[in-house]
Amino acid sequence: MIGVTENLALIKDLLAKAALEAGREPESVRLLAVSKRQPLEKVLEAAAAGQQDFGENQVQEALPKIEQSASLGLTWHFIGRLQSNKTLKIAEHFDWVHSIERLKIAERLNAQRPAGKPPLNVCLQVNIDDEQSKSGLRPVDVPALAAAVGKLPNLRLRGLMCLPAIRSEFDEQRKPFRILRELAEYVSSDAIPLDTLSMGMSDDYAAAIAEGATIVRIGSAIFGQRK
Ligand SMILES: *Cc1c(COP(=O)(O)O)cnc(C)c1O
Repeated sequence: MIGVTENLALIKDLLAKAALEAGREPESVRLLAVSKRQPLEKVLEAAAAGQQDFGENQVQEALPKIEQSASLGLTWHFIGRLQSNKTLKIAEHFDWVHSIERLKIAERLNAQRPAGKPPLNVCLQVNIDDEQSKSGLRPVDVPALAAAVGKLPNLRLRGLMCLPAIRSEFDEQRKPFRILRELAEYVSSDAIPLDTLSMGMSDDYAAAIAEGATIVRIGSAIFGQRK
């Protein structure tokens, strides 16, 4: 059976190729290994192979993994739906949150971020294809929320995240990513300098990288089928 180490090497190679084809430095694209519903052992194997960033979408499930790998200094990203009763644990244990869509939740994370920790890195999740089944705010609402979140001292607004509808053609896949990039360029300012586009998954990472993705989120292609 092919293991996590081999999968990681293969995916990093594919991401680097996609970056070079887009005329970008491979180092400008960060791989977020989505370890939701995967056991701690696989996280440890990936970490041993040099993987730094891990993504989870359930607080309960993530906490034991975060605690049991604490000595490794990994970077943990929350990418799931945010509920008010879970914000404390997220503020305490995560380094990034990609799924901000409401000011109320951002204010709770800001208030609950422990003193002595660096600001929590956050992205606003944009419902780029206006799908009922997906979280995220409408593009038109992004500037106002960005301005408000940008004022919270214990959060650091880094950029935007999206999860577009599935498309098979490369040129079609690029469109929602281009819109997200343009939205980020529009919102970014000296006061709120955005440096992150969290976009692209297993089937559309190349299109996302062509449009400027700085974080690509990949799970099963690294870790295998989820439980
Ligand atoms: C699960 C998940 C991924 C990774 O999905 P795979 O199909 O396993 O690559 C990426 N982004 C988000 C927001 C997810 O929830």
